[in-house]
Amino acid sequence: MSETREFKTESKRLLDLMINSIYTNKEIFLRELISNASDAIDKYHYLSLQDETLPRRNDYEINLSLDKDNNTIVIKDNGIGMTYDELINSLGTIAKSGSAEFIERLKELQSKENTENKDELPSDIDIIGQFGVGFYSAFMVAKKVEVRTRSLYDTKAYLFTSTGEETYSIDEIEKEDSGTEITLYLRDKTDEYDYSQFTDEWTVKNLVKKYSDYVRYPITMLVTESVPVEGKKDKYEDKQVLKTLNTMTPIWKKNKNDVTDEEYNKFYQEKYYDFRDPLLHILLNVEGKVNYTALLYIPSQAPYNLYSEKYEKGLQLYSKGVFIIDKCKELVPDYLRFIKGLVDSPDLSLNISREMLQKSQEITDIATNIEKKIISRLQNLQENDFDKYLEFFKSFGVNIKFGVYDDFGMKKDMLKDLLIYDTVNSEKMISLKEYVKNMKEDQKEIYYASAKTKEAVLAMPQMDLLKKKEYDVLILHDDVDEFVIQVLEEYDGHKFKSVNQGDLDLLDKDEEKKIKDLNKEKKPLLDAIKEALNGEVDDVKISKRLTDSAVCLVSGDGVSFEMEKVLKQMPNVNENIKANKILELNSNHPVFKAIDEAYTKDSASIKDYAELLYNQALIIEGFKIKDPLRFSELMCELMIKSNK
Ligand code: ADP
Repeated sequence: MSETREFKTESKRLLDLMINSIYTNKEIFLRELISNASDAIDKYHYLSLQDETLPRRNDYEINLSLDKDNNTIVIKDNGIGMTYDELINSLGTIAKSGSAEFIERLKELQSKENTENKDELPSDIDIIGQFGVGFYSAFMVAKKVEVRTRSLYDTKAYLFTSTGEETYSIDEIEKEDSGTEITLYLRDKTDEYDYSQFTDEWTVKNLVKKYSDYVRYPITMLVTESVPVEGKKDKYEDKQVLKTLNTMTPIWKKNKNDVTDEEYNKFYQEKYYDFRDPLLHILLNVEGKVNYTALLYIPSQAPYNLYSEKYEKGLQLYSKGVFIIDKCKELVPDYLRFIKGLVDSPDLSLNISREMLQKSQEITDIATNIEKKIISRLQNLQENDFDKYLEFFKSFGVNIKFGVYDDFGMKKDMLKDLLIYDTVNSEKMISLKEYVKNMKEDQKEIYYASAKTKEAVLAMPQMDLLKKKEYDVLILHDDVDEFVIQVLEEYDGHKFKSVNQGDLDLLDKDEEKKIKDLNKEKKPLLDAIKEALNGEVDDVKISKRLTDSAVCLVSGDGVSFEMEKVLKQMPNVNENIKANKILELNSNHPVFKAIDEAYTKDSASIKDYAELLYNQALIIEGFKIKDPLRFSELMCELMIKSNK
């Protein structure tokens, strides 16, 4: 019996596409055919557990054989096989919704692109790799495909033959065992592509490792090996040995207790091309609304390109050990872009596309859960192995800060306890929780200062009073720090306060009144200084924070000096964003008294003093002074005057 039948319409389109597909994707045919074979064995196994009349077997196998001379590759399984009807319905039609959807998507793409470039296939043809296009992918590499199959439920066996054109033929054949054997007659070599690579042992071995390493059944192949010749020393001969190419049980599916840290680390190094050990790994086995296993790694150092546009975040996605996607970016939030690893979930189908992933509730659930687990693991590390946490924070602290800051602080409550800071009073970095725990009895707010070093903070005139009170001060080094503090607003009910911004509220009532009165009394002097500075400062005040230093510059609430500096470096930021500058004078300092006297004697002399004071304050704050030459001249004049 032999008959010729026509493919259904959509199948024709898919075939056409496969034949003309771009080259980068061609190799996935092997993954697809092996997956089908594995599914067929799964079905056999499942049925044999249910039905006692079926022969149980324990020799499940997917066998590959390569024939260089005939340019063929054969994929053979001892699974459930197909009946005549199944053969027509499965291979003659696109039955599966995944493939049907793929075709829909392709039509869309093609109609879009056709308006611009009629003859070319959609550039987005990459999606082939992400869809389970299954059996038809064979035609990407084969000019003719033969499928020999016998169903578990049939005594007859059939041969399906197709060249991927309009028709296929079906013949009855003899086949002893249930199962399917697919022979691909590889296409002839072209200038662009050498199809015969798929008869090369080494290539096929690598493809199995890459795509199908964790298929549950042995994938076997006769492999040429050099073996010692018996009786003859140092003599070797080539022998064909049947080898299993896949690992079968993936490391993430093995019992935790059976895998050493070294093995987890080795897997990381090989898989993610890092020569260092990771800082730590996290293995999650989650059973719930969505079942999945995740093996996650935190690298010990940030890759050099972590912040470049080219860096692609994401985790690898597997379904039942079959590789689907390399970088599923939906699985990790931006601020955790440095996380490496994979997710394996039986609840995801191979037919999942990038578009579907974005909308997939399963993926969202997994991602949320993974994020929580990583945060709690980091919290744990901070509490139990601070040195290691410090190492983490040095590499990725900035990422955590971006996490706090991103999306208007949507995740700040989740992340705030991961932040650690250098402080004035502490030898090591501390968390905000620790800061609050160590606060002085009368202290209400959390103080911070932006500076490169602790010494620089301690030298700030604005620190005078805080030092006396022994209040601790967070030292902010990173550009993003002040923005993070702004987003946080408070911690545990304590507001954040910059040591050089706004009012510090540190004085008791009497002292407050004294300064208020003094501000009134000296108003003419203060106004004269402000006027002399000609719009450079927004206000001149008697300071409530200075005890030792003569002068300082502070900003009003809102944009701080540090933020102004950062914002100025950014492109497209409004030039007018400026911190309010307030010049504060220490009324107890001899300089203040000297100026006061000079002003009383000769009000015109205030101009030079004002300029000198202001420039000093600018220098201390790390700003540039407008006219260094004039500043130097004024200084010289003053020195000469004081010596007269
Ligand atoms: P999918 O794998 O997405 O279903 P395919 O085109 O790869 O799409 O396969 C279509 C159908 O053909 C499968 O669902 C299965 O029923 C059948 N099939 C394919 N390969 C095999 C095989 N090796 N053994 C038994 N059935 C198979």
